Amino acid sequence: METITIVGGGIAGLALAAALDSNRFQVAVYEKRSELPGVGNALGMWPNAQRALARLGILDQARAVSPVLGSGSVRNAQGEPWITVDAGEMFGISRIDLLRLLDAAVPGSVRRITGQVRDLPADGGLVVGADGVHSVVRRQGWGPGADARLTPYLALRGTLPAPVAQEEVGEYWGRGDLFGMAAARGGSFWYASYRSGLGPYGIDVPSVLEQARQRYAGHAPAIRRALAAATPEECLVQRLWTVPHLRSYVRDGTVLIGDAAHGMMPTLGRGACESLVDAVTLADLLNTLPQQQALRAFDRRRRLPTLAVSVASSALGRVALADRAQPLRDRLLNLARRRNDRAAVGSGSER
Ligand SMILES: Cc1cc2nc3c(=O)[nH]c(=O)nc-3n(C[C@H](O)[C@H](O)[C@H](O)COP(=O)(O)OP(=O)(O)OC[C@H]3O[C@@H](n4cnc5c(N)ncnc54)[C@H](O)[C@@H]3O)c2cc1C
Repeated sequence: METITIVGGGIAGLALAAALDSNRFQVAVYEKRSELPGVGNALGMWPNAQRALARLGILDQARAVSPVLGSGSVRNAQGEPWITVDAGEMFGISRIDLLRLLDAAVPGSVRRITGQVRDLPADGGLVVGADGVHSVVRRQGWGPGADARLTPYLALRGTLPAPVAQEEVGEYWGRGDLFGMAAARGGSFWYASYRSGLGPYGIDVPSVLEQARQRYAGHAPAIRRALAAATPEECLVQRLWTVPHLRSYVRDGTVLIGDAAHGMMPTLGRGACESLVDAVTLADLLNTLPQQQALRAFDRRRRLPTLAVSVASSALGRVALADRAQPLRDRLLNLARRRNDRAAVGSGSER
């Protein structure tokens, strides 16, 4: 049997372990966490991720524990909507629920090793880097030039037991900051992002929460209420990092998937979705083709689409988090809203 070592038992690594043919491969997953995380944010599942979950046989279970996202608006800092987007069948799954379902889908034949990988195994088998944005596999195979880049932004997110009112759902764009609110299992989920010199590691949650309350003090009442109700125990904070665009996700018996390959700005909410698609694509190719052919096909199928999503996420991040360009952005969006309103009135009078 061929051996496959997966470094990282997060979303990408577990999905891959669940989808590989256990009659064909001897699979080992290394994960440095000893248990599932206790606090997690909600992850919006786009249609491509839903197809990946269906392939893994866990779409119905994922849907059953997640609220449908419905419609939400992009708003100004005061909460006035510019654009309303219907998210269709998209649902928001808690990261903990997703990890739990993926974990349960991994066959018992897969060897699980708890511990941090520092040197890659040299047993001649395939090594898969599913070890996130600070991937040790990428560092060893692609060199320090491919190390993650620190963005100037911080992300603070949390869950609340109270539901969010439909007229408050969406994303609020201020000057150099954004704030989002959506439904989550058992209540609601919120996130905030802005420039910050804190960190990059070991950032103190209570002090960031206090900083956010001050920063958003002049914003919409819904934001102020959410931040007032937030508790440090239900919050996560981190600086945002991205991975430089790689020429290939495959090198010398090693392949990268998920954030290890294309860690991106979270603005579009697509990183976890693309990680799931990477995992099932790679598994299906390895299950059916000779290894070299499978790896080449994986690179061809996944590199450009994920690059495009990453570029689009950064571009949207620049608009959403605009600082000096904020007055111009707001004028353009106000104009677009007025045009839309006029068009809606016009089409109403024709009827
Ligand atoms: C603020 C924020 C909001 C987001 N919102 C969304 C969203 O709404 N929708 C969406 O699709 N995506 C979202 N994302 C992106 C999403 O979280 C990531 O894309 C996804 O977690 C990537 O999964 P992964 O398995 O590749 O990496 P990770 O989730 O980082 O998992 C890597 C795993 O590898 C382990 N590991 C690392 N190094 C080692 C080592 N040396 N040895 C052993 N184990 C190791 C880690 O412990 C971890 O479990 C968001 C990200 C952020 C920061």
